[in-house]
Amino acid sequence: MKPGIQRLIDGLCAGEALDEAQLERLIADRDRDAAARLAEAAVAKRGAIYGNDVYTRGLIEVSNICKNDCLYCGIRRSNGNAQRYRLTPEQILRCAEEGHALGFRTFVLQGGEDPWFTDGRLCAIVSELKARFPDCAVTLSMGERSRDSYQRLFDAGADRYLLRHETADPAHYALLHPAEMSWDNRMRCLRDLREIGYQVGCGFMVGSPFQTPAHLAKDLAFIQAFKPDMCGIGPFIPHHDTPFRDRPAGTLELTLYLLSVIRLIHPPVLLPATTALGTIDPTGREKGMRAGANVVMPNLSPVGVRKQYELYDNKICTGEESAQCRGCLEARMRSIGYRLVIDRGDIKKYQQGE
Ligand code: SAH
Repeated sequence: MKPGIQRLIDGLCAGEALDEAQLERLIADRDRDAAARLAEAAVAKRGAIYGNDVYTRGLIEVSNICKNDCLYCGIRRSNGNAQRYRLTPEQILRCAEEGHALGFRTFVLQGGEDPWFTDGRLCAIVSELKARFPDCAVTLSMGERSRDSYQRLFDAGADRYLLRHETADPAHYALLHPAEMSWDNRMRCLRDLREIGYQVGCGFMVGSPFQTPAHLAKDLAFIQAFKPDMCGIGPFIPHHDTPFRDRPAGTLELTLYLLSVIRLIHPPVLLPATTALGTIDPTGREKGMRAGANVVMPNLSPVGVRKQYELYDNKICTGEESAQCRGCLEARMRSIGYRLVIDRGDIKKYQQGE
C-alpha cells in the first residue's frame, strides 16, 4: 500500500470525516491491499448494524418514455430505436401483487420522465398500493418534479424517493446532460425531498465519461455531508444508441472499492448491489455484498417489457427464464452466507462510534 493510505483507512474506520483531498488520495492511490482492508472493515461495520440480512426492493419499471435526453441513457428521447412502453395502473398493481406474494415489502416504481404520470395519476397509483399493501413501503424513482408534486406524492403515501445526483460536480454534470437540464435543479429536488420527509436516495455511476478521482471525491464528500438514507451506485455501461456508445464501461474493481468507502463514511446507509454491477460481472452482486452492500433490487416488471427498459447494453434478467428474480437472488445470496429478509428494510438508527 502507498504510504498514507493505511492512515486514511484507519481514520475512516474510526468514524473520522475525510476531506475532499484525502478522499481523492484514497481513490487515486488505491491498490488491492487497500481494497481488501476497506472491504473487511465495511463488512464488519455493516454486520454490526444489519448482520448478514439483505433487504430486497421489487423494481417495477413503469415506463421507458422519457422527455429527457441524458447522454448516457438508452431511453433518452433522441433514441429513435427504443421501443417505447408504459405499464397501465392495473399492470403495476398486478406486479405488486405478485411481488407481495413472493415476499417483497418495498416496491420501487421507476421510469423515464413520462408526462403521462401526472400528479393525479401517480398519486392514485401510490394510494392504491398503500391501501392494498399497508405493510409495504412505496419508493418512487420518477425523476425531477416540482416541490409541490413531491409533496402531493408524499401525502398520497409515498415513503421514499430515489434520485441519483449523478455527479456532485456541476461542470461534470453539464458534460453528461443536455443544456436544458441543470445540476442545480437536481440538487433542489434532493433538498425538497428531504425537507418534505421522504427517505431519500442519491447516487452516481462509476466510470461515467470524463469522471476523474477528483469528481468521485466530490461525490463521496457530498454523501458524507448529505447522509442519504440510500445510495445507488453502479458502473456506467455504454448503450449502443447513445452518444457515449464507444466509451469504456466503469470497472468492477472501482465500484466495489467505492461501495466499501461509502459504507464506512456513512455506516447505516442502505446500499444496493445494483443490476449494472451484476451486468458487468456474473457474480457482481455477490461481490457487492462482500464489499459492504446490503440491498438487492430484483426486477418485478412484466418479463415482456424488461428488454425495453434498456438503460445500457446487455442488461441482465430480461429473458423468459428470469421471471422470478427474487428466487434467483435468494439462492445467490444464500450461497455466500447471506439471507434475503421479508421486511420493509428501513434504515436503522446508528450512533457514530458503535
Ligand atoms: N428517470 C429517473 C430514473 C433514471 S434510471 C431519474 O431521473 O432518476 C436510474 C439510473 O440509471 C440513473 O439515475 C442513472 O444513474 C442510471 N443509468 C442510466 N444510464 C445508464 C448507463 N448507461 N449505465 C449505467 N447506469 C445508467
